[in-house]
Amino acid sequence: MPSDEPIPPEDAFELVGNDIRASIIQTLQEGFKNGERKMSYSSLKSRVGVRDSGRFNYHLQQLVGYFVEKDQAAYRLSYAGRKAASAIAGGTYNETVELESRSVNGACLNCGDDALELTYNDVEFDISCTNCETSIVHMPFPPGAIASHRDGDLEAAFDRWARSWNMLSSTGVCPECGGRMEMGFAEEQGDPAIGNVDVRCTLNCTQCWMSGYLPVGCLLLEHPLVVSFYWNRGYDIRSSFIWEFEWALSKEYQEVHRPEKDLIKISVPLDDDELQITVDESFEVVNTDKR
Ligand SMILES: [Zn+2]
Ligand SMILES: [Zn+2]
Repeated sequence: MPSDEPIPPEDAFELVGNDIRASIIQTLQEGFKNGERKMSYSSLKSRVGVRDSGRFNYHLQQLVGYFVEKDQAAYRLSYAGRKAASAIAGGTYNETVELESRSVNGACLNCGDDALELTYNDVEFDISCTNCETSIVHMPFPPGAIASHRDGDLEAAFDRWARSWNMLSSTGVCPECGGRMEMGFAEEQGDPAIGNVDVRCTLNCTQCWMSGYLPVGCLLLEHPLVVSFYWNRGYDIRSSFIWEFEWALSKEYQEVHRPEKDLIKISVPLDDDELQITVDESFEVVNTDKR
């Protein structure tokens, strides 16, 4: 395979869809993690555990030039190989994980009940109200991440994952592929919707499949204006979970000025103060006010 030409995406998937090739990638990843950035042919072969040299070599050579790079007599993962290794380790391609539903802190923004429940089905992490059956926050979370965090603070891990995803999106960078995101406002809801606002920010990657509809408040959570507003009043904004910020998810705190101006104003209440932030469709802050 010529290494200077990109291979078609469907061929790339075929490459990792074979046990021996997936095992080669995982073995190189283990080495990479332990500081062994490249591996000799014989070491790699014995660790993968394939006796038949012809068969092993055939599969290894299939990966060279894309997921694996050959460096003199040794082999190492390319960047694409490390991404594939993360997807394999995250269980994105092959794993299913069971998680018993459990109640979580926070009140429902729809009915106000303290009846929030965490469930995990089909790679989707979901916080819903069991009283009015409204989904408050949901997004894909890799099965491997559930397995890795289930005995620790799973809610906190998901919260960080979702918020860093939102933070990247809000700055126009695709959290999946790093490509450029196009942003706008729309009355589209997503299914099921996140938050109960009428107008959402639309996010579409110009390069990959990534798209989403999120309340503007959700995307403002990690903005320096909001983070410092909390910090200066003695609060670390990370000490609450994303589904606990009613102002970020609810239309009560969102004022829409469109279509004539395409601006959305969000009110962020904290103790006796209120911060108001107005953003335009490209998510530039056009006005701030404190009360
Ligand atoms: Zn409810
Ligand atoms: Zn993308």
